[in-house]
Amino acid sequence: MNNALNVLQQEVDKRRTFAIISHPDAGKTTLTEKLLLFGGAIRLAGSVKARKASKHATSDWMEIEKQRGISVTSSVMQFDYKGHRINILDTPGHQDFSEDTYRTLTAADSAVMLIDVAKGVEPQTIKLFQVCAKRGIPIFTFINKLDREGRNPFELMEELENVLGIRSVPMNWPIGMGRELSGVYDRMKNQVELFQGDDHSTIQVRKVDGYEDKVIGEIAGEYLHDQLCQDLELLDVAGDPFDYDKVMRGELTPVFFGSAVNNFGVQTFLENFLELAPKPEPRRSTAGLVEPTDEKFSGYIFKIQANMNPAHRDRIAFLRIVSGKFERGMTVKHVRAGKDIKLAQPQQFLAQDRDIVNEAYPGDIIGLFDPGIFRIGDSLSEKSEIVFDELPTFSPEIFAKVSIKNALKSKQFQKGIDQLTEEGMIQVFRTVSFDDILLGVVGQLQFEVFEYRMKGEYGVDVQLQRMPYQFARWIVMDKVDPSKFRINSVLVKDKKDNDVVLFENEYAMRTAMEKLPEAKFLETAP
Ligand code: GDP
Repeated sequence: MNNALNVLQQEVDKRRTFAIISHPDAGKTTLTEKLLLFGGAIRLAGSVKARKASKHATSDWMEIEKQRGISVTSSVMQFDYKGHRINILDTPGHQDFSEDTYRTLTAADSAVMLIDVAKGVEPQTIKLFQVCAKRGIPIFTFINKLDREGRNPFELMEELENVLGIRSVPMNWPIGMGRELSGVYDRMKNQVELFQGDDHSTIQVRKVDGYEDKVIGEIAGEYLHDQLCQDLELLDVAGDPFDYDKVMRGELTPVFFGSAVNNFGVQTFLENFLELAPKPEPRRSTAGLVEPTDEKFSGYIFKIQANMNPAHRDRIAFLRIVSGKFERGMTVKHVRAGKDIKLAQPQQFLAQDRDIVNEAYPGDIIGLFDPGIFRIGDSLSEKSEIVFDELPTFSPEIFAKVSIKNALKSKQFQKGIDQLTEEGMIQVFRTVSFDDILLGVVGQLQFEVFEYRMKGEYGVDVQLQRMPYQFARWIVMDKVDPSKFRINSVLVKDKKDNDVVLFENEYAMRTAMEKLPEAKFLETAP
């Protein structure tokens, strides 16, 4: 092996790229901050937190973010820990998340699912989980807020299975909970981690001789020790054994209990995660599987973000590196455009502080300055023939009719709609009968951002009127008759002139499917 290949292999081996998926308030910001602190990235920890405070956040590149104190778009954070290089893909924690959130997950090799011990599996967790499950990536679970009274751990495991359809294997187990919490028992290492002190700051690790070791009773009290023994016996007998291959296929999720805000169980979680989580995975392309250790650089764009810097009207295209070494200034093929381009100003995103990147490796995410040449899903490559598989599209769930207030601006209006569709911000449909323009999004916030950007960037005031539809299905059949879709539904065309039916409710959708057995109803464009 030559030296360059050797270095590439080492760089690939040490990388882990993952996303944290959770419902708002489960503690994602807190957990992210603690993880960054372990990596010594203290400078960043403040800025992660700052996103939550509405007025002084570093990331409010837009008024909407400022007003609402949330992060509209996801960014990437990188840190080093014990020889690993870790990329965390941040996904907006707010209810109003968007297709961007989903697409960001396609750039991750694994996911950490964060669950509030009192609340269990919540709606946004389900949606994000399903996107990860479709890709079959490994999912690691962190059950948070153990310092609060929560639900029975067995009940939570059952919920993971019933609601998400994934079996779980607890890697550690709580010794008490809420006010009684004394620590966790590490099933893999046979040790107890003790949670001590009123400020919960002291954490002690004690090696024990199995969970029956009397030492545990001496520390935590007989009552909690008995409970622990009962629980673990049951798990040993009836629980799933740890199976690495099943974890890798996303069929079994290792579960860790802890408390992010108290920094309890976070470090052990991180260390176990780094050991188990996959390194950068190959990606499918027209040229077959592209391995990270392929010497030629390649990657794909999974997200385009505009106006991060309000002083400029530029866009940033986020590229996931799939193979080879990236070097600043290198020339690569922009495959769709059939052009060679020079990657001169690459940036990395550490909680919105932009740093210039000189080199990067598979698993890393870089931001490329985009004067309007990139689209979501574009492949860049040193070998021209590589085109990565298309990114999945996601079915919109909220719809609105859009019109302009000033008819003289219709040219700018069209341009704005075209560009924002290209960015993947909104999906556009046209009604067959009235030629109305309908927008479809995944989260309500996207409408607000759309309105804001149409005004700010294209000088167009738009009017949005919410429509009652909830589902979009691409219909495939010989001849589509619009009159079949009049009740609680409407037939529309997408950008590529495909037929799409929007339904007001599930009942209307089911009825249509029953009435037209010869038709195919697809969740995304064919
Ligand atoms: P996010 O919306 O998922 O990013 O959640 P945050 O990290 O902002 O946390 C939401 C709230 O839960 C905050 O008030 C945190 O301080 C709190 N929190 C986070 N982790 C814990 C924990 O382990 N125990 C308790 N009691 N509260 C926590």
